[in-house]
Amino acid sequence: MQQQYQQYQPPPPYQPPQRQYGQGSTGHGQGNASYGQEHVRFQRQPRQQRTPNAKYYNNTNYCWSHGGDIANEHMSHTCQRPAAGHNPHATRGNTMGGNPKDLQRIWMGT
Ligand SMILES: [Zn+2]
Repeated sequence: MQQQYQQYQPPPPYQPPQRQYGQGSTGHGQGNASYGQEHVRFQRQPRQQRTPNAKYYNNTNYCWSHGGDIANEHMSHTCQRPAAGHNPHATRGNTMGGNPKDLQRIWMGT
């Protein structure tokens, strides 16, 4: 009885394609793992909400294109991505019509 019943089960012809799809999803799983790490990093940025007027960088640098809150090595004459009309001689004391962005920001400590 049982042997006859097993003979009536037809082999599923669509299994090989399904296995290949499963291998592909394994690659997607690795991608999801890295995405999770980015999500954790995103949660580590509450500083803006706490002190919206706080500087990120403790310096008095100024860049004609990027304003007054920039990295230590970033100044008008060292700017890596100057905007159109960029003036490398612009400083915090004389912005020469440059970007006023972040000039009012204050360093509030680490
Ligand atoms: Zn710049």
